[in-house]
Amino acid sequence: KGVVHRICAGQVILDLSSAVKELVENSLDAGATSIEIALKEYGEESFQVIDNGSGISPNNFKVLALKHHTSKLADFPDLQSLTTFGFRGEALSSLCALGDLTVETRTKNEAVATHLTFDHSGQVTAERKTARQIGTTVTVKKLFSSLPVRSKEFRRNIRKEYGKLISLLNAYALIAKGVRLLCTNSAGRSSKSIVLKTQGSGSLKDNIITVFGMSTFTCLEPVSICISETCKVDGFLSKSGYGSGRNLGDRQFFFVNGRPADMPKVSKLVNELYKGANSKQYPIAIVDFTVPTRSCDVNVAPDKRKIFFSDEGSILLSLREALEKIYSPSHA
Ligand code: ADP
Ligand code: MG
Repeated sequence: KGVVHRICAGQVILDLSSAVKELVENSLDAGATSIEIALKEYGEESFQVIDNGSGISPNNFKVLALKHHTSKLADFPDLQSLTTFGFRGEALSSLCALGDLTVETRTKNEAVATHLTFDHSGQVTAERKTARQIGTTVTVKKLFSSLPVRSKEFRRNIRKEYGKLISLLNAYALIAKGVRLLCTNSAGRSSKSIVLKTQGSGSLKDNIITVFGMSTFTCLEPVSICISETCKVDGFLSKSGYGSGRNLGDRQFFFVNGRPADMPKVSKLVNELYKGANSKQYPIAIVDFTVPTRSCDVNVAPDKRKIFFSDEGSILLSLREALEKIYSPSHA
């Protein structure tokens, strides 16, 4: 049973960024307005997500990290109208199976926090009281240590894993409104360094300025398309001739209902229609698709980044028309 659980867990948590993504989404689900991601050795030694959200009620301590435990599915129809980021009750149980998990949490009803230690099967092995503000801290040490081959691979590729995580955190920094994000890393003997810090502004525009700077923002053009009453596309794209020569992954961010998503078809379309100053230029693109929750299925990939739309064809068509206008020669 243990081995099967570890293997399944390794399919939910693919790498460092999918592990942190699950924890950040839990913090957002808990209504956090401040989220800190603290890494040790770029995440190889440990990573920690510290939030000021609602906290976890003591009734849930025992079941918290058991497979398929979730507090977010009141009843079945909810599956159809997913509003929270997570709902499968697999993240904490998978993280337990793959590394050493501890949770520190306090709700507004408790005077002190509780520190919980879990074993690889998700059982609580120790519980003690501790001081903490309202909110939750989840710590994972030695990710993948229970899967020796994956663990070796993980440690060897840690800088790449770390790079992918920073890109994901940039995606949250761009899209999260009113949420302060801080990411720190402690490596070797040097003191903790700040990797990312945002003030939690209220608009995509302000977030772009925070992440990429004012000079980049001035080279962007807003896009805003209403496809139907419940379906729209909003974002910013490079103006003609103002692209980025850099690695695309750093500069193109797509979201569905405010959630980071891999959208290769959209990326391809944007790259195809964009008019760069030369063929080496790619557009910066930060685009959020608002669609009715019923029309997208986030269950396609375990890490929920690849999202499937029922209306994809017409959405892509509307986007194409809008991009053709933006990048037509007559456009001012
Ligand atoms: P899911 O998010 O799909 O419900 P998880 O395994 O990610 O499953 O989390 C299990 C449960 O633990 C959640 O349903 C929630 O009740 C609780 N939880 C996890 N992280 C937090 C957090 N940061 N703040 C409050 N509750 C949390
Ligand atoms: Mg979750």
